[in-house]
Amino acid sequence: MRISIIGAGPAGSYAALLIVKQGHEVHVFEDHDEIGNPVQCTGIVTHGLWNLVPKDDSIIRTELSQVKIHAPDGSTMAVKLHEFVLDRAGLDKYIARLAQEAGAKYHLGHRFIGFAENGVRVRNKGKELIIPTDITIGADGPNSEVAKAAGIWTPRKVWGGVQATIRGNYAPDTFDVFFGKEFEGFFGWAVPESKSVARVGIASQHKAREMFHRITKRYPGTLIGWQSGPIPIYDRKVPVQNKRRTVFLVGDAAGLVKATTGGGIITGMVSSRILADCIKNRKNYARALKPLRRDLALHRLMRRTMNTFTEADYNKLIRCMSNPRIHKLLMDNPRDFPSRFIARLFFVEPRLLLFAKNFIKQLLLPRNEVSYG
Ligand SMILES: Cc1cc2nc3c(=O)[nH]c(=O)nc-3n(C[C@H](O)[C@H](O)[C@H](O)COP(=O)(O)OP(=O)(O)OC[C@H]3O[C@@H](n4cnc5c(N)ncnc54)[C@H](O)[C@@H]3O)c2cc1C
Repeated sequence: MRISIIGAGPAGSYAALLIVKQGHEVHVFEDHDEIGNPVQCTGIVTHGLWNLVPKDDSIIRTELSQVKIHAPDGSTMAVKLHEFVLDRAGLDKYIARLAQEAGAKYHLGHRFIGFAENGVRVRNKGKELIIPTDITIGADGPNSEVAKAAGIWTPRKVWGGVQATIRGNYAPDTFDVFFGKEFEGFFGWAVPESKSVARVGIASQHKAREMFHRITKRYPGTLIGWQSGPIPIYDRKVPVQNKRRTVFLVGDAAGLVKATTGGGIITGMVSSRILADCIKNRKNYARALKPLRRDLALHRLMRRTMNTFTEADYNKLIRCMSNPRIHKLLMDNPRDFPSRFIARLFFVEPRLLLFAKNFIKQLLLPRNEVSYG
């Protein structure tokens, strides 16, 4: 089959890699002239990434061994983990290279503009081309033009993520997160990429400018760059395929992002792996996504629960995190897939049951009353 993939981010290139290996003719169309640029990402991934692609040290900026959680009362708690800060443009280029080596054809500077009969329309240097296509994969990010042109777009809620790159002195194995009213609805972060540079940012639905100002005040080094971009809030109602099953969405285009952290690299690539398997075995992609959706729904519920917390609740939660058995559980289980360990979390730290009431209340809340701060 002739497969057109729109977007050469991690989800698009990973789909290209897996599908071209099945013997299909795969073309990837990327709007920008260079893969991976501009960057709109902090680039933290769990070690789960290396279950998807072989580990490549050249794209790792630093390895993290702990997260320092800052409670609203000013106390801090360090939790051990093993995660990676990537050169995000490097990651996109790396997966694209794997896909190209496997036979996928890349067309940079080619923007998808719509569908034609039996094909897709792309624009390159002002010229419109029609590409014969059997299956189109929209991996074109949170504002997916593919979804819109295929008639499967639904309005989505997003957080605005804003991040500065700041020169200063940092511990290269530790990242900081800040919770509470100051960073209402999400959290603030400072993630080192080396001893001397960190990515410092926030995400918010309404107060991005204020919060960004607050977080950067905590890191008064030299600002050397900044990035911003929308982070889709996971919604199970977002369609992922058209009725004829000729158009599919993966990654941010389908809103498949963890609502606890805004991370979507791994979950997006997992959606591509599921789609590749569905194409190979003629399975229903929307149905096959269910296990991933279950985890994303859990992330969303955890986010909603946290958004009901008072400052005192946050302080209590962060104290619960001091339990070494929680650290071990989080070390052993990548936090991408909480369904694998959430029940055990309550078992090893029963004080977390204090928050069960908020959790159940959110679970039962009618859809139109859900808020993300
Ligand atoms: C500030 C911020 C920080 C983040 N930090 C993290 C993090 O630390 N860890 C993490 O896992 N996730 C993070 N994310 C989320 C992560 O960046 C996304 O989930 C991830 O990039 C999604 O990958 P994707 O391949 O689906 O889409 P994208 O990476 O958005 O790729 C889409 C590609 O499609 C191309 N494109 C778009 N429209 C067209 C078109 N019409 N024609 C052709 N090409 C097109 C774009 O140029 C782009 O290359 C962050 C996001 C933001 C905004």
